[in-house]
Amino acid sequence: MYKPKISDRKLEELVNFASGWEPREYPELSKNIRTLKSVEKALLPHIRDVDYFVNWIGRKKPKRYSRKSIIVDEYLIYVPYHYSIDDCGIYFRVGELWRDFQVFAGFVYNALENSRILWILADESDVQALKLRRLYKAPASLICSLFIEYIVFHYAHGVAHHVFEDLAYVLEAMGRGKYSLIMARDEEEYCRYVAFTTLEKYMPGVLARSRKAERLISIFYPMIPEFEWRRVESMNFATTKLLYVYYGTYKSDGIQPKISGRINEGINLMFKLLWKNHYTFEEDAIELKTKPLVQRIYLTRL
Ligand SMILES: [Zn+2]
Repeated sequence: MYKPKISDRKLEELVNFASGWEPREYPELSKNIRTLKSVEKALLPHIRDVDYFVNWIGRKKPKRYSRKSIIVDEYLIYVPYHYSIDDCGIYFRVGELWRDFQVFAGFVYNALENSRILWILADESDVQALKLRRLYKAPASLICSLFIEYIVFHYAHGVAHHVFEDLAYVLEAMGRGKYSLIMARDEEEYCRYVAFTTLEKYMPGVLARSRKAERLISIFYPMIPEFEWRRVESMNFATTKLLYVYYGTYKSDGIQPKISGRINEGINLMFKLLWKNHYTFEEDAIELKTKPLVQRIYLTRL
């Protein structure tokens, strides 16, 4: 089970903060975030609204993903190459994602207003507390910094679905199983676990210098007026804790970040190996008759 690395007592304080929280409008934040409508044109090169997505949205998740299904999450859709070699890839559901980011940004802003919560988020470090206070006073920088980490969190979830598919592909080739190897619920929890641990592990400054962040921002930047790399500061020590209570308590969407006991060690080990290839080195483990995954990142309005 993933848990932020703070004492239970402090985690409880964060949980209490999140459970009593109500979203409201923060003009100082809204002026740093564009509406989807106003930037739709600039986003068009990345938008792919695949017709059949509508048939999948709102449907109950299958017990197990397979070559006959696509994966519809709240914030992204993953189309397995087992399902369609032409459409496979990660599709951010830009409307849902954008609405959610704005609420989350308000949540963070309000958390930073509370000096006790800020102190917990800063791991009781003066340097980190100072950084959070500085970001709070500069909402444009806060939005730029927060957005990169938020989007990487969701991106890592999507890549984890892809790694599970590759894992099944390898075993299929050896005649030892078929896609998907694990239950859909276990896969969702595992993907969320990976998203948290991935974001948590970034050393200060590394993410902002990565090709991954640059590529993701090249898709999304029109949504943030005045996006500038120089404004970006690493705040993942706080963002991971905030995302943890935001999704776990405020939204309580029921997806626990954990590796289920039903998943065996062999799958775990293979996942780790393939993950390194895919996420860290950005190399596709499986050669498909299509573009590599990093070029199959789209937006969908569905
Ligand atoms: Zn998922």
